[in-house]
Amino acid sequence: MSALLAINGLTSFYGVSQALHGVSLTVSRGEQIALIGRNGMGKTTLLKSIVGLLADRRGEIVFAGASTAKAKPEDIARHGLAYVPEGRGVFGSLSVVENLVMAARAGVSGSRRWTIDRVFEVFPRLHQRRGNGGHQLSGGEQQMLSIGRALMTNPDLILLDEATEGLAPLIAQDIWKTLGIIREEGIATIVVDKDHRALAKVADRMVVMAKGEIAFDGAPALLAADPSILEKHLGV
Ligand code: ATP
Repeated sequence: MSALLAINGLTSFYGVSQALHGVSLTVSRGEQIALIGRNGMGKTTLLKSIVGLLADRRGEIVFAGASTAKAKPEDIARHGLAYVPEGRGVFGSLSVVENLVMAARAGVSGSRRWTIDRVFEVFPRLHQRRGNGGHQLSGGEQQMLSIGRALMTNPDLILLDEATEGLAPLIAQDIWKTLGIIREEGIATIVVDKDHRALAKVADRMVVMAKGEIAFDGAPALLAADPSILEKHLGV
């Protein structure tokens, strides 16, 4: 089966400073990838490069059979790739429902698998808060809304940066449960989070980044079997 996302030899730059040094990564349909590594190692840069937010990128990126290496972020989103940035990107002045409606416009047109009602089934809490403005939501509710917005674009792949950053443990658990639901729906994900233990429970593959390169790519059990990798690249 061909990969949903295939990245080959990706290099990315901020001005003269090179942040990615030849990253190669493939993601299959429905696969859940955990992306981990210390601060500043290039995780966010990799996600931004995939969705086209970092214009200075070189190398091959093929998503759903089409090259997106030179494509603009809005066109990449229409191909079925959704990005939930760190800090979440919810519109504070719009209500929950308005945020979801707006997101639907940015996504894949045609067959509409995700509706506001389905997002509310996944996140009953958002249904309760549907008339509230984005700025009135708690951190956890904002993260649910960000993921809801991503679903409204009918994606085949969601990139989720700092999935549970700043959330209380119980709320974080809700987010991990949601990732399970997303997986059952056959949507692939690349999830960045500091909680590598939680990620190892939900992910099919663990990808460790170090200094703009991929230092490890394998099943959670394989990573657990070699503690030196976590020690070296996460300091645990
Ligand atoms: P964090 O968890 O801290 O976000 P990260 O692994 O996501 O870490 P990146 O944010 O991708 O790391 O950063 C990778 C490298 O690129 C770092 O050396 C960082 O200093 C640099 N960098 C990130 N953003 C910029 C920018 N806007 N301009 C210049 N350099 C940047």
